[in-house]
Amino acid sequence: MKKRFRELERTLGAAMFVLLLAIPSWAAMTVAVGTDPSKQILKGKIVTPDQIPVDCTEPTGATIFTITNGYIFPGFIDAHNHVAYNFLPKWTPPKLYQRRAQWQATQSYKVFKKPYDELKEKGLTCEIIKYGEIKALISGVTTIQGTSPGSSCIRVLIRNAENQNKLGLKSLHIRTYILDISSFEGTIDWNVTKSFVVHLAEGLDTDDRSRNEFNILKQKGLFTGQTAIIHGTAFREAEFKEMAQVGAKLIWSPQSNLVLYGKTTNVKLALQQGVLVSLGVDWNPSGSDNIFDELRVAAQVNESQFANAIADSDWIKMITINPSKALALDAQIEKLAPGLKADITVLQSKNPDPHQSLLNTHLQDVQMVWVGGNLLYGNKTVVEKVKPAQCEALTVHGSEKRVCVKDTKENVTKATQTLAEIQAILQANFSNLAPLTP
Ligand SMILES: [Zn+2]
Repeated sequence: MKKRFRELERTLGAAMFVLLLAIPSWAAMTVAVGTDPSKQILKGKIVTPDQIPVDCTEPTGATIFTITNGYIFPGFIDAHNHVAYNFLPKWTPPKLYQRRAQWQATQSYKVFKKPYDELKEKGLTCEIIKYGEIKALISGVTTIQGTSPGSSCIRVLIRNAENQNKLGLKSLHIRTYILDISSFEGTIDWNVTKSFVVHLAEGLDTDDRSRNEFNILKQKGLFTGQTAIIHGTAFREAEFKEMAQVGAKLIWSPQSNLVLYGKTTNVKLALQQGVLVSLGVDWNPSGSDNIFDELRVAAQVNESQFANAIADSDWIKMITINPSKALALDAQIEKLAPGLKADITVLQSKNPDPHQSLLNTHLQDVQMVWVGGNLLYGNKTVVEKVKPAQCEALTVHGSEKRVCVKDTKENVTKATQTLAEIQAILQANFSNLAPLTP
């Protein structure tokens, strides 16, 4: 398969870039802490979907992270999630459905979802969202779609696409609609809103109601090049063709589709028509536990149903550059380049080929994660050197990590909560909390 990734052994240095390192002997990473905490340099093999940053000189006093057995990626973007639901465990649907409204109306689902309403009612929205964000962070995700805008308490940790954490964009830059499209009222100012993210046609392609949602979207004037359609499982060639013609994007969550409907979006057809496809976990209850599991499900579908139409090099695009375009955040995040945010994920090498390595990555293989140059997660040895006694211990399938949840700089509600505190609050109110590291 054609390799579109660029891999280079290079030094990446820039005042606003943070670089990383890790040290356990099995990971072959080291850090040398410098005198200037604002400067960090990351040395190692960079994997990006397109351009490689230029070399630059090492600034004086920088902390230098050297990675010899890993890959440096742009921070991952989870194109679709419902972050606030991810404290819930798995939901096993009693049967397969034809469309979304059917399972949502079942007693089984209503009983399952009740704790979500109850915890929100108790004022624990910040805790449940942050718990979901920590799950994403430890899988290398630095930006996630799917939180309601407006909560200031989630300005810490990873970036919320709708809240645009520290990206300096207008609050309506992204608008997300998760209800039945026929209930959408009002209009969108496309000069302000650059990405309209909408659940659509989540059902079987034999289900007319699901398919007809595409017509409703068009009738309401919501089908543009700035529209990102989540699911589109009911779409056939005709819909993908129109999507490609206007430049609308597709967001794919195969695991959740398979659990709920027994089928997933025909991404092969979408790609053949030229639609830009991103990957999202959807949520913990019927989707994957993390982005790596979702990638593996997608790769399995690619092999069993799409005759490997998705190229190896597409996987990294589906969790970096493609979602940054779908969410209209490509001027801020997505790649390692001067002027963009230093969102960086370092993974242990599992294979000499970086694409294969990505597909073989598990939670314990995540070495380091920076959001905006701030090291928030990583191997114990490294984090302890860079941020001594500031972060919490977390053992991930035998690998000792540190996660930095408490934020003492951001002046927002509950910013100083630790992971232990968040877990304790949630457990006191809900006995079946989804595991952080399943
Ligand atoms: Zn969804």
